[in-house]
Amino acid sequence: MTTLVVNEESQFVRDHLNAKIEAVTSDNTNAEDKALLITEIKQLLQQEDAVMVAHYYTEPELQALAEETGGCVADSLEMARFGRDHPASTLVVLGVKFMGETAKILSPEKRVIMPTLEATCSLDLGCPVDEFSDFCDQHPDRTVVVYANTSAAVKARADWVVTSSIALQVVEYLKDKGEKIIWAPDKHLGNYVAKETGADMLLWNSACIVHDEFKAKALMDLKLVYPDAAILVHPESPQNVVDLADEVGSTSQLIAAAKNLPNKQLIVATDSAIFYKMQQAAPDKLLIEAPTAGNGATCKSCAHCPWMAMNSLTSLRDVLKFGNQEIFVDEAVRVEANKSLQRMLTFTPNK
Ligand code: SF4
Repeated sequence: MTTLVVNEESQFVRDHLNAKIEAVTSDNTNAEDKALLITEIKQLLQQEDAVMVAHYYTEPELQALAEETGGCVADSLEMARFGRDHPASTLVVLGVKFMGETAKILSPEKRVIMPTLEATCSLDLGCPVDEFSDFCDQHPDRTVVVYANTSAAVKARADWVVTSSIALQVVEYLKDKGEKIIWAPDKHLGNYVAKETGADMLLWNSACIVHDEFKAKALMDLKLVYPDAAILVHPESPQNVVDLADEVGSTSQLIAAAKNLPNKQLIVATDSAIFYKMQQAAPDKLLIEAPTAGNGATCKSCAHCPWMAMNSLTSLRDVLKFGNQEIFVDEAVRVEANKSLQRMLTFTPNK
């Protein structure tokens, strides 16, 4: 059984985008200034005993700099693990706010900074803790499983945190124990997990504004142009797009699929910034963006997350220099959120 819980997230998220995004995303730095910025950033990383922890959806120049300076480029789960295990005293998280919070939850003794704390996520915005907590209270018989793309407070209310790379195994495990589930916040990922596992899941009604824009009809048309291409889809996409996939998976799983599939052409339905690492993994393959609503439509993202795009060389230099965008998590919230995160980190599928 899957049931959607109606909320007002959609308009709220659009309002947030309209109010916050335009002013901060444009980085018109020229090549010469970029080279100077990169030199300054490298010096500041050393001076501050800091390491870059970047997500696959950030700008390629930031991913390249993270790699060059001994940092990591990864999905949100691996980012958190890397940050926890790295000896640096400062973690510079390039991504969106919930990733910085997760790093702080796992590494409370470290300073966690981000190029901008304005970079958030439509899934996080779409799941306010008070509303969600009330909803959980109405269904005390259900185990609460939340996606990593949530605030620290929502994680603290949950029994489990999962990422898209481990969601199927955790829900399968809970179903086998006879547990009924509340799932939040991504309705498409929840729907996919429910369909694959057959678990009894009550779904929160929120979506990723990037993946929600992928269109099945346009994807079928594109497949006619590239009949030999494999279709790779992130499960935050709508079900009718997932249904067309040759491979469904998390960011790391899609990169691995790009390498391992025999197809020389790949149509990819996730944030296009992933092409930087995907092309490294599959250098001889043609990567093609899956179609979204397109120019002139209501699409604000068009296959690239506007919040991820708020991370830039300039804002990275500024936070290293001024240290003014630091993540703090209330200690009581951190302790509770850490419990549900640790369940995921210590989970093995055959447990
Ligand atoms: Fe959130 Fe989607 Fe952006 Fe990822 S791509 S941070 S899920 S809005």
